[in-house]
Amino acid sequence: MALARIARTGLRRTRISSSSPASFFTLSEHSPVTTSSILNPPRTATSYYQTVNHASFWSSRGFRGTPNHQFPSAERIVDDHFEHNEPKRPGLEATKRGEKPRVVVLGTGWAACRFMKGLDTKIYDIVCISPRNHMVFTPLLASTCVGTLEFRSVAEPVNRIQPALASAPDSYFYLASCLGIDTDKHEVICETVTNGGLPKEPHQFKVAYDKLVIAAGAEPLTFGIKGVKEHAFFLREVNHAQEIRKKLLLNLMLSDSPGVPEEEKKRLLHCVVIGGGPTGVEFSGELSDFIGKDVRERFSHVKDDIKVTLIEANEILSSFDVGLRQYATNHLTKSGVRLMRGVVKEVHPKKIVLNDGTDVPYGLLVWSTGVGPSEFVKELDLPKSPGGRIGVDGWLRVPSAPDVFALGDCAGFLEETGRPVLPALAQVAERQGKYLVGLFNDRIGKQNGGKANAMAGKDDIPLGDPFVYKHMGSMATVGRYKALVDLRQSKDAKGLSMAGFLSWLIWRSAYLTRVVSWRNRFYVAVNWATTFVFGRDNSRI
Ligand SMILES: Cc1cc2nc3c(=O)[nH]c(=O)nc-3n(C[C@H](O)[C@H](O)[C@H](O)COP(=O)(O)OP(=O)(O)OC[C@H]3O[C@@H](n4cnc5c(N)ncnc54)[C@H](O)[C@@H]3O)c2cc1C
Repeated sequence: MALARIARTGLRRTRISSSSPASFFTLSEHSPVTTSSILNPPRTATSYYQTVNHASFWSSRGFRGTPNHQFPSAERIVDDHFEHNEPKRPGLEATKRGEKPRVVVLGTGWAACRFMKGLDTKIYDIVCISPRNHMVFTPLLASTCVGTLEFRSVAEPVNRIQPALASAPDSYFYLASCLGIDTDKHEVICETVTNGGLPKEPHQFKVAYDKLVIAAGAEPLTFGIKGVKEHAFFLREVNHAQEIRKKLLLNLMLSDSPGVPEEEKKRLLHCVVIGGGPTGVEFSGELSDFIGKDVRERFSHVKDDIKVTLIEANEILSSFDVGLRQYATNHLTKSGVRLMRGVVKEVHPKKIVLNDGTDVPYGLLVWSTGVGPSEFVKELDLPKSPGGRIGVDGWLRVPSAPDVFALGDCAGFLEETGRPVLPALAQVAERQGKYLVGLFNDRIGKQNGGKANAMAGKDDIPLGDPFVYKHMGSMATVGRYKALVDLRQSKDAKGLSMAGFLSWLIWRSAYLTRVVSWRNRFYVAVNWATTFVFGRDNSRI
């Protein structure tokens, strides 16, 4: 099973090296894949040399026995490749006796960062692999779209969270995505990131692990609706927020140009948010704040034309109780956000079409309808929880894959554990990261279980209590200095729930104290103060 997975990635790699990203997708989706083509990927000499040469670019730290111009053995590797006709990748070999166990962590989100922050680097070496080198403080991401906060205030570089990644001799951060896992060989296959001005030609490598922690998050759900991926903006990463901000400011300025017909002006200035969960509501609230203050003062020619519509198929904020939902509905409506019931059928470049046939023209479309398993997770040959996340037991282990753990949005309890799949929340991911720190430092590490296959069974190394999740409550800001706070374990339980200005103060204080570093805490506080005194910056940089 594991070998097949690697063979598949080899096939994908061959295609990437010899074709553009567009043709890569065409090929992988539509070419007939035969057994022989999987086992003997049709690689050309040119494509292989491109890969090896590219490796020399990436040879910065930690690859043993690779890039060609530094290592005479590179030629031999190429010969080997043609002899056996299977991809040979550079990378980190398995740790040897006497070396520290290597924990490979996939991702730099809430779960991964909390885990790496606490992991004892006297016991373990860490190799973190992720397509981004920072953690995003997601609860404050919506505020960056309109300039309430600067982008850097919500991004925390991973090597500040775990300094060993930058300083320990055998710990590394690699800017790459994991493509596949060979659970038998205890290896992950990775590919360097190629966007954002980085080299166009990706390069593959492998990293052997003693323990693997998968914290690769989830992806926005689009329900296969036509046009969403092409035309809508998602809000999950800092670069998404940057794109939204640019588009919003562009539309504001374009609509003010001479000769723009009235109808087109209205379209450009119509911001549509799909999904009435906390993210959609918070973003709508931020937009209405921006319009109410900054657009009014600085784009006064168009102030009466800019509109926000929030479209939701059911109730907004369905995880909150009726009272709080009603408060949010009234408040948003008062702030000028139009709430609309509807189900999106398809998305066109300038309008969306609802199931009932209504056309909704838009200038900015933000899609926020929840998350589901990523393509990476779907393709892994690992057991799955209900809903398709990586299935774990009570100790966050993936049962059929020794030494593999999964946590955060990408993981869910297996059906046989009898536990529910936990919600995709930062507080779940963070708490699981913290739990795994205890397991690794106090249990596995202290009992010499860190090396690959050292934990033959649960009984050999007592792991202590399984992970138990206790919900601490939910919060959401709705704009104009108002928020909802629900400190109950569930919406039907007893406890404190309130809405208004005091809730907003609690919301701000809670998140200010949760921001990962003092540096960012300072940035956030200064940004809030600057916005309060001077208004939001509206330069389109
Ligand atoms: C705008 C917004 C606001 C939110 N607000 C709240 C809130 O107020 N409260 C709350 O509890 N939750 C909130 N959430 C949800 C919360 O952010 C997520 O539940 C949390 O980020 C999950 O953490 P994670 O570590 O599992 O995944 P993520 O934080 O998503 O991190 C996943 C990581 O994996 C990396 N990755 C992806 N694919 C690969 C691969 N193939 N190989 C290697 N690495 C990979 C990604 O680059 C990323 O670094 C919010 C989410 C968003 C988007």
